[in-house]
Amino acid sequence: MPLEMGMYERRADYKSEKQCQRSSLAFYQAVRDLLPVWLLEDVRATEAFHWEYDGRACAFSPSEALLYALVHDHQQYARHLLQRFSVHALDMPSASFLCCAHSASPHMSVAVRYNRKTILKLMMDTLKDFADEDEKKLLLNHRGCAHAEGGKTALHLACDLARPECVLLLLGHGACPYVTDRAGDTPLDCLLQQISQSDMDMRTKRVCLGYLVLFMPALRFRMRTELRENAALWSRLVGDQAFQWLSGQCPTSLFVQCMRKVTRSVPNEQLETLPDFLRPPDFRLHQF
Ligand SMILES: [Zn+2]
Repeated sequence: MPLEMGMYERRADYKSEKQCQRSSLAFYQAVRDLLPVWLLEDVRATEAFHWEYDGRACAFSPSEALLYALVHDHQQYARHLLQRFSVHALDMPSASFLCCAHSASPHMSVAVRYNRKTILKLMMDTLKDFADEDEKKLLLNHRGCAHAEGGKTALHLACDLARPECVLLLLGHGACPYVTDRAGDTPLDCLLQQISQSDMDMRTKRVCLGYLVLFMPALRFRMRTELRENAALWSRLVGDQAFQWLSGQCPTSLFVQCMRKVTRSVPNEQLETLPDFLRPPDFRLHQF
């Protein structure tokens, strides 16, 4: 039987599932062992394939390679992929890298989960290459699927895990603090639940709270009624001043209001050039 035209065109067609598993494991290990960027890109272009559910062997896309770089904190490789492929390195990976058809592009959530601050910063810097502001917002605020991620955004996850640097990076680059997850919770609700569930890392959680307050001109969130009904408890958990702001008893301090103006009027990339006393990382909200 004659072979169809095009069958010789894709080397990947000749790979079996087993061969693919071997070559994708080898690529995974090469990234894990932090091999040089040129070598990884050479392997990615010629040897490494992964098996897709529909029975195809596929080469690794830049976005799939970036996921491996994130998992293993290979910062140089991540930098290379983002510089060379820009926002395409954040494209949706193929189905075998995802939970289901409703999954969000996973790079930001993976960066938050593994606390890869440096690579998350590189990814956020790349977002400026989006020609379309809406596309950027969509990526930043995309909610995960119901099964694996509870419909959460990367910002929800950063609050759940109390990762202040991630919270600030995401908010500073335009992540929306009002997006709700499947349970109807904003990232602030998630953080408050973490605060009420355990005393662990309370200082870190309060820094996260400070950043959220800074980027939420209107403190709109589901748990406000719960705060008001249990005033004594919440006042102890978050401090008197923050309790009054969150429960709506009094407006935020002049300092917070000034800082909101500063963060809005200074471009993201310049936030780091502000004098120390004005920089959000030195924001003193956590010293309630
Ligand atoms: Zn799913």
